[in-house]
Amino acid sequence: MVRHRPPEELLMDYAAGSLEEPLALLVATHLSLCPQSRDEVKRYEAVGGVMLEDLAPEAMSDDALERALAAIERPDETSALSAAYCEPAKRPFNVPSPLGTYLNSDFQNLKWRRRSRNIWDYELLPEYPGFSTKLLRIRGGAGTPHHTHDGREVTLVLQGSFSDETGHYGAGDVAVADGEIDHHPIADVGPDCICLAVTDAPLRLTGPVGRVLNLFVKM
Ligand code: ZN
Repeated sequence: MVRHRPPEELLMDYAAGSLEEPLALLVATHLSLCPQSRDEVKRYEAVGGVMLEDLAPEAMSDDALERALAAIERPDETSALSAAYCEPAKRPFNVPSPLGTYLNSDFQNLKWRRRSRNIWDYELLPEYPGFSTKLLRIRGGAGTPHHTHDGREVTLVLQGSFSDETGHYGAGDVAVADGEIDHHPIADVGPDCICLAVTDAPLRLTGPVGRVLNLFVKM
C-alpha cells in the first residue's frame, strides 16, 4: 500500500505529457505500483482530452469544464499512455515496469558503482541535460550523509524502506526534497533499500565533514 503519493502537479504534468524523461520515467514506474495514482492520472487525461476537443476551433465554451468532469465519470477506453504502464510485465525479475526497459537486468545483477561502504549507485540517462537520474542502493540499516538540495530531488522507493526527517517511505512511495529540507535518510534494517532518485541540481552535503567534502566531491 503506497502512503506517499507524488504531488498533484507531477501527475498532472505526466498526464499532459509535459514531464521531462527522467521524471516521466519515475512517475510511470510509480504508477505501475500505485492503482490510486493510476486512477488520478486517468482522470487528468480525460479532462485534458475533453478540453482539447473544446478548444478547437473556437474558444472554450462556458460548460467545457462541466462536460469534462462528466466525461470522467464515463467508463473510457484506455489511452495509449495508460496502456504503456498496464502492459503485462516483460521485465527482469523484481524490477517494476517500465524501469525494466531501461535496465535489461535485475537489481541483483546490475553493475552497481560503489560510492561508500554502504552506498552504491547506477546512473540512468547519463546524457540527459539538467538532470541526474540514479538508482541508489543503501545497505539495510545504513544511512546517507546529511544533505540538502539546490534544486528538487524526487525519490521513488523500489525495494526495502527508509526514514528521514519527513517520514517513513516504503516500496512505491515518493519523497520530494528541496532546499527547504536538510535530511539524513536511513534505510530500515533488512534488505538493501533501492530507490530511483531524480534531481535537477547537485545535492549539497551539510554535516560538519560534509561542508568540507563539498569542496572536493560531486555526488
Ligand atoms: Zn536528498
